[in-house]
Amino acid sequence: MAATDVTFPSARIERTIEEERLHRKQQLAGAFRLFGKFGFDEGVAGHITARDPEHPDMFWVNPFGRSFKQMRVSDLILVNHEGTVVDGDAPVNQAAFAIHSQVHAARPDVVAAAHSHSIYGKSWSALGRLLDPITQDACAFYEDHALFDDFTGVVLDTEEGKRIGYALGDRKAVILRNHGLLTVGKTVDEAAWWFITMERTCEVQLLAEAAGTPIRIDPEYAELTASQVGSNLAGWFSFQPLYDKIVADCPDLLD
Ligand SMILES: [Zn+2]
Repeated sequence: MAATDVTFPSARIERTIEEERLHRKQQLAGAFRLFGKFGFDEGVAGHITARDPEHPDMFWVNPFGRSFKQMRVSDLILVNHEGTVVDGDAPVNQAAFAIHSQVHAARPDVVAAAHSHSIYGKSWSALGRLLDPITQDACAFYEDHALFDDFTGVVLDTEEGKRIGYALGDRKAVILRNHGLLTVGKTVDEAAWWFITMERTCEVQLLAEAAGTPIRIDPEYAELTASQVGSNLAGWFSFQPLYDKIVADCPDLLD
């Protein structure tokens, strides 16, 4: 069977609004635990958001100052389009609101967005370059990520969030120069997986360029591989074993 013939289990299950909200929050708490496990946290920086299924202009996010490694479903807060916390009693990181509210507004097709100051992502971001298709996995980002070629301090105003959303365009990821990575997806699972694999892709290109001159995959095959490993469903599916393992290891994330 050719790789393109592989059928993934469906990511689409019929759920009520309440079930879908809980599902998104569970995937979100799991994604935070994984980001913590992989060391993507840097102090209080970083946020992953999930659009509310009932109120599409509101999103669930981590409370400011809570460790990724301790995140539980009950910790997540709901923020409206004005930056007001409407569910939960913890504050929201202003940068999370400034960036994610605008990314969610610019991309009604996505449910989730992930951003953190992970080591290899921010190292790569300092070079101000797009990633090259030098491995099979890197092809997930082939012609499907952008560079936000600007840095003017911590993103605290929604105008800059708008510009980030514009730079992202219809792609799955954007490299924020001198800052780090941001990924989006039609599911929390997908956005989290793109972040995890993009961080590793940055690490791999840094390693390969430190050792020599990496060979780029030909455009024809990079494009083919992108269609195999870079689809919404492939992103969702890749996250499933990680989620299952983190729930088995840290069942309290579902509290
Ligand atoms: Zn940041």
